[in-house]
Amino acid sequence: MKNPFHVMLIPTLGCPAHCRYCWSSEPGSPVMSIGVVNEVVEWLSNFPEDRVTFTFHGGEPLLAGPGFFRQALPILSGGLKRMNPDFALQSNLWLMTPELASVLAEFHIPIGSSIDGPPEINDLQRGQGYFDKTMKGYEIARAHGLQVSFICTFTAQSVKFREEIYQFFLEKGFTLKLHPALPSLRNKNPEPYTLDPEEYGNLLVYLLDQSLEHPGGIEIMNINDLVKCVFFRRGTVCTFADCMGSTFAVDPEGSIYPCYRFIGMPEWVMGTVYDHPDREALARSDAWKRMQEFKAYVNEHCRDCRHIRYCRGGCPYNAMVPTDGQIAGVDPHCIAYKRIFDEITGRLNQEMQEGFGMESMGLLQGPRRPSKPGIMSLMQRMVSR
Ligand code: SF4
Ligand code: SF4
Repeated sequence: MKNPFHVMLIPTLGCPAHCRYCWSSEPGSPVMSIGVVNEVVEWLSNFPEDRVTFTFHGGEPLLAGPGFFRQALPILSGGLKRMNPDFALQSNLWLMTPELASVLAEFHIPIGSSIDGPPEINDLQRGQGYFDKTMKGYEIARAHGLQVSFICTFTAQSVKFREEIYQFFLEKGFTLKLHPALPSLRNKNPEPYTLDPEEYGNLLVYLLDQSLEHPGGIEIMNINDLVKCVFFRRGTVCTFADCMGSTFAVDPEGSIYPCYRFIGMPEWVMGTVYDHPDREALARSDAWKRMQEFKAYVNEHCRDCRHIRYCRGGCPYNAMVPTDGQIAGVDPHCIAYKRIFDEITGRLNQEMQEGFGMESMGLLQGPRRPSKPGIMSLMQRMVSR
């Protein structure tokens, strides 16, 4: 992971869009005050970490407006200088203005936005007019030098158009991060959109093939992360690492949760930034204990899986959704994870046997070179970037 200590700040759960499968917005949600931001600084002063990444998430964080970011960013970066804060922002970009873009550009904030493919596919599942509004914000962000990548949510419907969606990203040159539509602990409505784990596995293998077949093409972040997990034998994104204790989320009123996905559920509150709890105090909360239970569950139930070191049972939140918050299984995407990890491991082993790995590292001379670019060449591309 870029930075293993991650704090998600949720300036508001409000959102001007009403995507059909979304479960993470709340109409009428308050906006975080600068007082809460100051308390975040006080709270984190108790932590020993020398690095932190803050991600502004929502709802739609830009609803907080330029004044919020103009004040909050210097408070966080100056008040926590010792932790060398990095920032990121997740936004649909509808509310992006030149003023907001220049504030964000001062802090070099990379933006993750959301587009689910060409306008007709995107607007069908996100809502009429969504595509154009996001593209307008994208142009403003790019004009101010901001880096934007796109999360593409694949649903049970849109996965049937995976070729069109991939082609769209390729033609536009957009960096793609795949997100499978998920059910939620808060709302079962998105279930008609939920991507079946087997379909998800097929999609990952399809994207792996595309990534290898178009070496000069777009970056597919999930594929890069999955390859890194296998190569380095440790989780490099939160889904495949034990996130408990290294990821927190703060809601608009200062309540602390294990992750933004639990926000709005009082039983998952671990404390409040106003009390400045250290890790030991947070560890006494029921929410922390339940998250730790997941770790123990994975150690027991995944112990014979050859991918346990870099999968760690997947996302604890996903794991709890089918059982209403109880720990009684691993992430239901286990099927997809096994499929893609098996695929990457198998191909990597074959390349090693063919000598490509050693050859590419200068350890073997000779003409043996696989006919098609493989996992090692993808690793080389990542390293050279
Ligand atoms: S609960 Fe899931 S989404 Fe949240 S930090 Fe953990 S792995 Fe990531
Ligand atoms: S692939 Fe499945 S069985 Fe293996 S560690 Fe991941 S969740 Fe557990």
